[in-house]
Amino acid sequence: MDKISVIGSGTMGNGIAHVFAQSGFDVTLIDISKDALERALSTIEKNLNRQIKKEVITEEEKGEIVKRIKTTDNLETGVKEATLVVEAATENEKIKLKIFEDLDRICKPDAILASNTSSISITKIASVTKRPEKVIGMHFMNPVPVMKLVEVIKGYLTSVETTEKVIELSKKLNKTPVAANDYPGFVANRILLPMINEAIDTLYKGVAGVKEIDTIMKLGMAHPMGPLQLADFIGLDVCLSILNVLKEGLGDQKYSPCPLLINMVTAGKKGIKTGEGFYDWSHGTKDLIVSKQFEV
Ligand code: NAD
Repeated sequence: MDKISVIGSGTMGNGIAHVFAQSGFDVTLIDISKDALERALSTIEKNLNRQIKKEVITEEEKGEIVKRIKTTDNLETGVKEATLVVEAATENEKIKLKIFEDLDRICKPDAILASNTSSISITKIASVTKRPEKVIGMHFMNPVPVMKLVEVIKGYLTSVETTEKVIELSKKLNKTPVAANDYPGFVANRILLPMINEAIDTLYKGVAGVKEIDTIMKLGMAHPMGPLQLADFIGLDVCLSILNVLKEGLGDQKYSPCPLLINMVTAGKKGIKTGEGFYDWSHGTKDLIVSKQFEV
């Protein structure tokens, strides 16, 4: 049976640990922050309770799932036995390159090293290891326990064997893996971010208001939420950084971030995480209240 180590216990890492443990794998969750590890365990517990309420799992199964998750702030002991490591640490190239250098040194020679990065090149991450054929992208979507997709990113040197193994593992998680090649934004963000940027530009140019743009896209295209609301969920700083990766990596001005997006990030209005973006989230996420900035 595969032994899984997950690096980074934030939004994505706790979800990834949750789904592996729920599918019967032993998981070690690693973070440099003990607080983050504690928060992750309580989030997993909360999400499992929600699954009990929905009758997806039983109380007894919850106990077994929780028992399969160990936590540590020690990378060395946390990954030593792993057959697959999924890195979901902060989206920062320097941090990730250092982690993969360390993983290559510590992990068993046949261990697969995956990254959940949204935008950093898998080929670049692989280049700091001596096993580029075993380095791959495993791009889970947020919230991980709910979303079906795993975008499997094949780096320039990722082997067919590694890709097949990760596809097979993703299926065991009851997810739908879809493979893509390693180019900026992969597939999901290359298509999603220009749409979000265009929605922001449509607002910026005064074509329509926040509610109108989101309602048109929601009802007209059968999207579960509008692009401006989605941008607030993703984080406007994250949207901006992915657009910059697309613009630089693909060398095309069409990916230039809208000046309104740049201003909002500079002003600290980053969406849900700061309490305000296109919407005012200071009252929670249940009601959609347009930010005062955009009231007409
Ligand atoms: P987050 O900020 O919620 O969590 C990151 C965690 O990594 C933190 O707990 C931090 O303490 C930890 N960390 C930082 N450096 C570390 C190190 N050297 N070793 C171990 N832990 C370390 O971030 P997130 O939103 O969970 O994103 C994680 C990754 O997932 C990023 O690469 C991001 O691009 C990707 N991603 C995020 C989303 C999303 O919607 N949030 C979706 C898909 C992919």
